[in-house]
Amino acid sequence: MKSAEDLCLACGLCCDGTLFGHVRLVAGDDAKKLKSLGLPVVAPRTGPTFKRFPQPCAALCADGTCRVYADRPAQCRRFECGVFKAAREGEIPFSTALRTVKQARRLADSVRRLLRALGDTDDHLGLDARFARVHRRLESGAADAAAANAYADLSQAMHRLTLLTHDKFHTRAEAR
Ligand code: SF4
Ligand code: SF4
Repeated sequence: MKSAEDLCLACGLCCDGTLFGHVRLVAGDDAKKLKSLGLPVVAPRTGPTFKRFPQPCAALCADGTCRVYADRPAQCRRFECGVFKAAREGEIPFSTALRTVKQARRLADSVRRLLRALGDTDDHLGLDARFARVHRRLESGAADAAAANAYADLSQAMHRLTLLTHDKFHTRAEAR
């Protein structure tokens, strides 16, 4: 690995629904153009009125690149996670940064696998929203022993992922 940008190509956690559930548009972002490029921009009817599009992002390619890179919105341009910054500034070696990225990706994969095992196969939603939905469903009805065990594993994996991402990835002031 040669640069912090290579780290992002191996990561994608700020685009794939792991760190964020959506991307907010701000003044200066061209919502029409983003829509024409295939991003499902919506203006929520309730709550904050900013336009946004959901993650996992429709522009994230399998090789980790962004299909709309030249036109990506301001918050995508601005966001740099803590691991990226630390690697770029030479505070940690790239090998350490890559290890952290791989660890977070493994945890996110575990969360997705357990969500699927519990019947949530909607890969078009961010992990937080999927976890909350499964939590509500299991709270409201009787879960059998297998589902209860899977939910315990899911909660643990989600907790470990949250601790890791808050500790190493989020820079709260810049989180979108
Ligand atoms: S989470 Fe950090 S390392 Fe990963 S793609 Fe985003 S900025 Fe790059
Ligand atoms: S537009 Fe590009 S940079 Fe922004 S979330 Fe989507 S894939 Fe990531």
